[in-house]
Amino acid sequence: MTVNSPISHYIIVVIISGVLSVLLAIYAYYNKTNFSGMKAFTWSTALSAVYTFAFAFELAGDSLQEIRFWINIEYLGMPFIAPCSLLLVMHYVGLDKITASRRAWWLFVIPAVTLLMVTTNDYHRFFYRDIFLRPDTPSPMVDVVPGTWYYVHGGYTFGIMLVSLFLLFSHWKKKESIYRKQMFAMAVAIGLPMAGALLYVLGLTPLGMDPVPIILCATSALYIIAIISTGMLTVSPIAREHIFESMRDGVLVLNLSNQIMDFNSAAAQIIPALTPLAIGKKLEDVWKRGTDSGAFSFGLDPSAEHEQELKWIRGKETYYYRIRASNLLMPNGRIAGRTIVMIDVTEHTLLQNKLRRLAEIDGLTSIYNRTFFMEKSRELLAQAHRTHSPLSFVLFDVDHFKQINDRYGHSVGDFALQHVVNICQRQLGADALFGRYGGEEFAICLPNADLETAGQVAEKIRMEIAGTPLYSAAKAITVTASFGVTEARQADTPLETLLSEADVALYRAKRGGRNTVRLMRLGQAHGFVQN
Ligand code: GH3
Ligand code: MG
Ligand code: MG
Repeated sequence: MTVNSPISHYIIVVIISGVLSVLLAIYAYYNKTNFSGMKAFTWSTALSAVYTFAFAFELAGDSLQEIRFWINIEYLGMPFIAPCSLLLVMHYVGLDKITASRRAWWLFVIPAVTLLMVTTNDYHRFFYRDIFLRPDTPSPMVDVVPGTWYYVHGGYTFGIMLVSLFLLFSHWKKKESIYRKQMFAMAVAIGLPMAGALLYVLGLTPLGMDPVPIILCATSALYIIAIISTGMLTVSPIAREHIFESMRDGVLVLNLSNQIMDFNSAAAQIIPALTPLAIGKKLEDVWKRGTDSGAFSFGLDPSAEHEQELKWIRGKETYYYRIRASNLLMPNGRIAGRTIVMIDVTEHTLLQNKLRRLAEIDGLTSIYNRTFFMEKSRELLAQAHRTHSPLSFVLFDVDHFKQINDRYGHSVGDFALQHVVNICQRQLGADALFGRYGGEEFAICLPNADLETAGQVAEKIRMEIAGTPLYSAAKAITVTASFGVTEARQADTPLETLLSEADVALYRAKRGGRNTVRLMRLGQAHGFVQN
């Protein structure tokens, strides 16, 4: 073999290709934690290196025996590259679950048989029916007559590569443009060797040489460029994408001009205006369209990191979302954009509302329970003192309620309580506070009402109750109640004192024959007197 023959140049390129593969394999080995497909990538580059170097030695070989030896070594690597590439692509597009947990071994069955066939070819000639030195080349090169398994191996490898390409292209549309560069690099790295092998098989390569090792040099370089320029393999973009897509929370990614850069399918479900056409549009515009349709209203301060809750009626259903906006920081600390996460808190909010209701509302009458009435009254009392406005309390108790229970049954008693509450609610203004104080005892807090006004309110309610019989089983039951009224005159009178004053007045109303209103007045000389 002469030093300047085309073959020797070719060998040099092949060796460079092998070195690149080794470098890539080393790089991948030390970065394997970053990306789940890194193991597949490491293997495919290492196997490429084996193949390429052995090919260089094959080219440099002087005898058929030597060449046969290096061909055997080539097949230690070559048949396994395509399945490794497929695993890499599967990791990349997020199909790694299928290949996880050592289920991928079956991909390597045919390559392993191929290796066996090649190394034992002399005994069965199943791979090469014949292999001989070509008479017409300047340095020794072999030519082969393919056997059956040769086609099996070729078909399998092509098939695997086609599947890899198919996976890449089928995920093409779904991926962001920055990932497309990486996918393009992968597609070229798979497609080019395929094309080269095809030309070789069709006998269209110069001197009938296998161009694949040279092409592997180009694809190795391509991988290196992709790694450096797009950060390929340093993150697991599709895995990230996979998480992004499978999230139950809606996520929007905005750039600094508030244009929508990305969103996941959960976001699109929340905001139907988020179609692929919304990419690049201003968030406000998309958001507004939702507002117009009555779907949601959400003021968004583009500068702040914040969180807010949003009630959103969609169709007949009401949803609650917690919306969290946060800045997207670049590695240098500058703001690159923002993410908006929409968390569906409907269940949580409904449960919270229900718990609040249980804690505040009386189950039978649906008015405030005693605890909550007291809490709210205390607030109103403090407020009345601050604003120097009057505040009065009315306490009333249904007369002879025990008899209603005894005569008509407990459920009619319950019904009577609801009946009384309904009458009261019709008489009371929006600012009055109304609560169930005890069994058949009720309390009203009247802001901005002095004793006389409160007394008039009580009288009106008393008359309404007495004049509105309860109809039960075609029988009219007359219900009456007795009322005690007091006013908060001094700034420091505790709520409990005021209510016991009202209770005293109520007791007097009972003693005075029931179905009456008694007011607690501040006497001139000796404390409270009653009229
Ligand atoms: P008075 O005119 O002196 O107030 O007589 P009264 O019978 O109304 O008073 P008493 O305190 O003796 O009886 C109140 C009754 O109210 C006793 C209790 O069984 C009944 N009661 C309390 N809570 C409820 C309720 O939620 N539903 C029903 N049906 N009855 C209740
Ligand atoms: Mg009673
Ligand atoms: Mg009572």
